[in-house]
Amino acid sequence: MPTNPFDLTGKLALVTGASRGIGAGIALALAQSGARVILNYFADPDGKNRAEAEAMGAQCPGSVLMEADVSKSEEVNRMFTVIGTQHGGLDILIANAGIIRDRTITKMTDDEFQSVIDVNLRGVFHCIRAATPLLRENGRVVTMASVAGQMGFFGQANYAPSKAAVIALTKVAARELARKKITANAIAPGFIETAMTQDMPDEVTRKTLEQIPLGTKGQVDDIVHAALFLCSPGARYITGHVLNVNGGFYMGA
Ligand code: NAP
Repeated sequence: MPTNPFDLTGKLALVTGASRGIGAGIALALAQSGARVILNYFADPDGKNRAEAEAMGAQCPGSVLMEADVSKSEEVNRMFTVIGTQHGGLDILIANAGIIRDRTITKMTDDEFQSVIDVNLRGVFHCIRAATPLLRENGRVVTMASVAGQMGFFGQANYAPSKAAVIALTKVAARELARKKITANAIAPGFIETAMTQDMPDEVTRKTLEQIPLGTKGQVDDIVHAALFLCSPGARYITGHVLNVNGGFYMGA
């Protein structure tokens, strides 16, 4: 064990959906802990995401930007081929990218259902599958699940099952990757202040906060600190775990 159990010097990390929100926060924190970071972003027609990823990258010394839509296996495979060619391996995969498209079951279209499954579940699968041959001994996989996947929320017939499946997928990965001493863990954020939650109606926000024992929304840093811990050498004996970071919203095992 190194002197500082949270030191990531010399590690190479990929963070998906790193242009903003939780992914951007994790990328910055990994860089500040000594890792070199690859920031994945999803290209939009206006170039806004690339600009945001570039701004993040400017704060992460030695970082690289890589464009890929995680829902498309060919784009993900291409990204990991480049990582293998240019870097020879990978130490940390943060499968963070995710979207939300809420609608009650009877109103939800096939496309609204499928698009969320494609990004949130298939995206994580594509990344873990392509990362596996590159992940070095003592590597780390951290996936971003959600309290929604544990509790199931009104209007989330697409999002909640996608996140429940991410938890199951992470446990499968933990078993399959263990032979290389690679750990795989999920973080299940609760109600975190990012773009994803900012448009919630005030009434829904108030009712949600009433159910959270700690009484407030979480901040990006609350998730970042959990991710840093799971990536660190200090967490080497934790695998297949779901780390709830939710202010007590859900307390199940
Ligand atoms: P966010 O601010 O909306 O950021 C999501 C990131 O994922 C953005 O950078 C987004 O890029 C990227 N992304 C979306 N689709 C992508 C794709 N197909 N390929 C690559 N990147 C893509 O959300 P967040 O709140 O930071 O959430 C991060 C993760 O935490 C998500 O998996 C989310 O489900 C999970 N989570 C969040 C909360 C919460 O309360 N905020 C709670 C539980 C779980 P664009 O800029 O193009 O959209």
